[in-house]
Amino acid sequence: MPADELIADVTDGLRGRGFDFKARSRDGWFVYHGTLDGAGSTFACELQVDPNFSEYPRVRLLERPPDLPLVVPHLGVDCEICYIARGTVVLDIFDPVGQTLACLDRASEVFQEILAGELRNDLEDEFYAYWAGIFCLVDISSARLGQQVLKAVKNGSDLYPVVTDDLPRTQAKLKQLGWTTVDCPAVTYRVKTSAKPRPHNIRWPIKNVQQLLEWQGLLDMQCRKKLLERIQQARATSATSVVLIIESPLMTYGVWVNFCKNSAPQPGARGKRMASLFALPVIPLEVIRLDEKYMAERNQPGRKTLAGKRLVLVGCGTIGGYLADLLVKAGAGTCGGSLDLVDLDGLKPQNLGRHRLGFSGLFNNKAVVLKRELDTLAPGANIAATPQDVREIELDAFDLLIDATGEESLGHWLARRYRHAALLTVWIEGPGTAVRGLMRTNEKGGCFRCLCDANRAGLLTVVEGEIPKLLAGDGCEGLYVPFPATVSLQAAALGAEMISCWVNNDDAPTLRTRVLDGQFQSATPDCSLLKQSGCPACSS
Ligand SMILES: [Zn+2]
Repeated sequence: MPADELIADVTDGLRGRGFDFKARSRDGWFVYHGTLDGAGSTFACELQVDPNFSEYPRVRLLERPPDLPLVVPHLGVDCEICYIARGTVVLDIFDPVGQTLACLDRASEVFQEILAGELRNDLEDEFYAYWAGIFCLVDISSARLGQQVLKAVKNGSDLYPVVTDDLPRTQAKLKQLGWTTVDCPAVTYRVKTSAKPRPHNIRWPIKNVQQLLEWQGLLDMQCRKKLLERIQQARATSATSVVLIIESPLMTYGVWVNFCKNSAPQPGARGKRMASLFALPVIPLEVIRLDEKYMAERNQPGRKTLAGKRLVLVGCGTIGGYLADLLVKAGAGTCGGSLDLVDLDGLKPQNLGRHRLGFSGLFNNKAVVLKRELDTLAPGANIAATPQDVREIELDAFDLLIDATGEESLGHWLARRYRHAALLTVWIEGPGTAVRGLMRTNEKGGCFRCLCDANRAGLLTVVEGEIPKLLAGDGCEGLYVPFPATVSLQAAALGAEMISCWVNNDDAPTLRTRVLDGQFQSATPDCSLLKQSGCPACSS
C-alpha cells in the first residue's frame, strides 16, 4: 500500500481516539493533537508519526500537570513521554495503524504511572539521548573518587578531554589510535551520585553553573553540594576550567566548567563572586569509557570477569592463540591480573591456515608474537611472553594454569608438577572429531592422567566406537593431524567457557565434551571427574 494511504489509515485510526491531524513537523513527521486522561483531568498532548513507520511515534504533553516535579522518571525534555525502550519492541511495518494505537495506549499507561510517581523497571530512561556534548575519554580503573589526571587529545581541530588514573596505560591505548596527549590547563574531579540522571523537563540543555546546580539539586542534593565544592576548589587554583566526571548508577557523564579567567571581574565581595560563579558556562561531556572493567563486564552483566586473576597459558598454537584472544576479551591481564604466554615454538607457514596469528608473525616465537598482537588489541592488559619450554622453567605464582598444547605426555607432566594448583587442560580429539576440556581445582578432582587411564580402560570415552586416527604431511614437515581452524576455535571457546565458570566459582561439570563430527555419538555426558586411586600424576 502506498505511504500516503497508510498515513490516511493512521489518521482515521487516531481520529477514533480523539487525535486530529495538525501539520507536518520540520522533519516530515505527521503531527496530531489530542488529550491524555490522568488524575481526574485531561491534558493536551501531541503525537507525531514517522511517515516511514520505522521509528516509534513521539508522544509529548503540551500541558504540564501543575503539581509534577521538574525531574521525573519517564518524562523527558519538553515533556516527551519515554514510553518505550528503543529496540525492545519490533515495529510491525505492515500494521501501522495497530502499531500507532498500541504506542498511544502504552504512552497513556506510562503517563498514569508518572502521575502516580511510579517507576517502571523495564523502561530505562535513555538519558544519553538528551545529553549531547563534547566527547570525553575516561580511563579509570580504580573506584577512587576525587582528583584524577587530566590531559587532552587533538583530533584535527577538535580537543577532547582525557581523564585517567594511570597516564602510561591510557597513552598506550591512545597510541593505537595514532593520538598523542597534550596538556590541558584544567583540573578534574570525579564525584559519585546515587541518582540516575534524568533531564530537567523545562530548562534544558543546561548552560551554566546555576542551571547545573539547580538540576542536580532535584536529582541528588549531596551530589549538588560536592559539585559546587569542587568547582570552587578548582577556581581557587590557576586552572582555567574544571572537568567534573559524575559516576551515576546508570552511566558516567560529565560537565566542563569554563572559568573565563581572561574576562573575569576582579575579586570583590563574596556575593559578587558567587554571582559570577553561577554564570560560568557549562558544556556537557559525553563520557566514552575506555577502561577494561567496562569493556569486559558489559557483555556479561552480573558475572565476574578475569580481571585481577593471574593466568598462565602454556601452548600458543592453534588452540592457545584463539584462547588467549578470548581470555583478553574477558578481562585477562587487567586490574592487577596477568596473562603469561608460554611457548618454545616459532610460527611457521604451515601453522597459518589454522592459527590466530598471520603472516606478520612468521619465523618469530609464537608466545612473543601473540603477546605483540594482543598488546595492540588490548593495550591496557598486562601480558607477558615466556619463549621457553615449560618443563625447564619455574612459573611464578598463578591462580590458574591452562594447558592448550594438545600434547598428551606434557599434559601428564603438568598434572604431576602442578598437582596442587588449579589446572585446565583443553584439547582436540582425533581429526576434529570432538573437543574436550578438563578442569581440576581441588584434591578430589581427577586430573588429565586420571582421564587418560580411564579412557584406556574404555571408560569416559569421547564417542561411541573408535576415534579415527588420521595423519597427513609429507616427509619434509613431518606427520600431523589435519583439522581446520574451526575445530581449534571450538576448543578455545570451550576452554574460555570453563575458565569463565571457574572464575565464577562454578567449575562443575569439570569434564566437558563437544562432539563436532556428526557421524559420531557422544559417549560421555558432561560430568565431574573424580580422582582415580593410584594415579601416578595426582596421587601424592
Ligand atoms: Zn590423576
